[in-house]
Amino acid sequence: AASLYTDEDPLVILSSGSLRSSVTNSSSAWLLQFFSSWCGHCIQYSSTWKVLAEDVKDWQAVIAVSVLDCAQEENHEICREFGIQLFPTIKFFHAHSPETDRGTPFRGANRQVQTVRQVMVDILQNHTKLDWPDRCPRLEPYSSEDLLPRLGQRSEDYTAIVVEEPDSYVGREVILDLLMFSGVQVKRALSSERPLVEALGVTSFPSLYLLHPNSTHTEPRVEKKQRFFFSSFLKTLPGVQRKAGGRSSAAGLQEAAPGRGASESWRRFDSAKVYTADLESGLHYLLRVELASHDYLEGEELSIFKDFVTLVAKLYPGGGSVVRLMEALSDWLLSLQGRRLVYQNVLDLVDNKMRVRQCVPGGGVRWVGCQGSRAGLRGYPCSLWTLFHILTVQHAAKPTALENTGGSREAAPVLQVMRRYIRTFFGCQECGRHFEQAAAAGLDQVQNPDQQILWLWEQHNRVNSRLSGTLSDDPLFPKAPWPGPALCATCHEEKNGARWNRDNVLVFLRRHYGASNLSHRHAI
Ligand code: FAD
Repeated sequence: AASLYTDEDPLVILSSGSLRSSVTNSSSAWLLQFFSSWCGHCIQYSSTWKVLAEDVKDWQAVIAVSVLDCAQEENHEICREFGIQLFPTIKFFHAHSPETDRGTPFRGANRQVQTVRQVMVDILQNHTKLDWPDRCPRLEPYSSEDLLPRLGQRSEDYTAIVVEEPDSYVGREVILDLLMFSGVQVKRALSSERPLVEALGVTSFPSLYLLHPNSTHTEPRVEKKQRFFFSSFLKTLPGVQRKAGGRSSAAGLQEAAPGRGASESWRRFDSAKVYTADLESGLHYLLRVELASHDYLEGEELSIFKDFVTLVAKLYPGGGSVVRLMEALSDWLLSLQGRRLVYQNVLDLVDNKMRVRQCVPGGGVRWVGCQGSRAGLRGYPCSLWTLFHILTVQHAAKPTALENTGGSREAAPVLQVMRRYIRTFFGCQECGRHFEQAAAAGLDQVQNPDQQILWLWEQHNRVNSRLSGTLSDDPLFPKAPWPGPALCATCHEEKNGARWNRDNVLVFLRRHYGASNLSHRHAI
């Protein structure tokens, strides 16, 4: 199946089978992005990660850029083992790290190409003599005493010297850019090396200086004193060429990486219907993957989980296996009396009870109304929106259903549970942040079940409008104000500057997300 990353990208696509053997006991360091192909922010970020991978593809022999998709069923367990709860999570692994290494999280808030690239340089330099990546050249600066004797000497190769300020990364980046090239050695020296600076006549930093094989030396003319111009100039010097076999082993690893499953065939569906297969697949993912990344739940997390389970048990329409499962979970959670919950026990209970229809042989989920035109689009987040829309509508239909639960005291109990769930557990961090901002700004104005339905509809439309035309927008299902005229003509009007007839929208939402509009089929 197509995914966010393909074999065409200059990075290594890892899977549960190849992760540990690749990143530990390795002669190179690794930078690994754990992503989830349904996570909107991961979709946006994939273009940055690809630019980074392209930018540092010649560094791969000493630090490899890689990805692993935690949304793929076969990768769930390994993502749990590596403690991945939010997406994207970036971790790095030192060269020669032991098999028990779970990676060091990259904590910087800025994940733009230049920042990550500089962090990669820092990671390399943080190695010791003992675990230094096998093919990594020296990155420390040279002194005047080291370099001055080389002036006027004949040699086989060019020597390029980048003279720079102490906080500059240019020298180290150029050294790594030329890693796969023979015929030139790149070294760096600091601007504080006065004897060298004076001997070379360098007046600004960073500067590139070149010692030629024939013993002459010059400051070459490059358009700009920047990494790209220095590296490009050096790569085109006569006699400088890419080393044989210079491309890293990424391609081989990608071929070896299993678990890029074949795509399922397309199922036709009716967008005027809501499919229980989507809701059940979403719950399957939520219980078995999203929450399963936690080894245990306690305190605030446990009470949020309990509230969620109770909400679904009380409001999920039509009874059936989902409600039975949620009721069993809810009873069992109550019997725990707030003690720490070992998540494996939930999984055991779910495995016992969840014989719901969406489970395709061998596990997995089956999207119908939430199918995307390719893997990584729609799916889980689509099902989560759908579930909460249904719960708001069910709450309005059965306002007493939450009596005797914690939610009975809140004006917008469904939204409050949703808000806490999204903030605490939803793997897409950025989405959670946005949703929390919206909830903090407007949720206290929601006073009754109808306003609850409309608040979620409006909020969802705001997200649609923000995401329209971005990478997470499925071209087959472009994000647009919803419902469109084909689904609800009377919802639209142009009166006094308003676009919507909110009364009609409410009627439509109650019908669309009502129990009688649910389809238990897997296609039209
Ligand atoms: P979705 O937007 O997921 O909608 C699913 C279905 O709901 C649609 O097919 C339609 O039938 C129906 N629907 C659409 N609009 C409405 C509406 N206004 N009211 C009622 N029903 C509607 N991704 C990001 O990239 N950045 C974010 O910040 C972000 N925030 C998110 C916050 C939350 C709480 C959730 C659950 C998801 C978020 N996502 C975010 C994911 C994104 O909103 C989509 O869910 C995802 O891109 C899949 O889109 P989709 O085309 O399947 O439609």
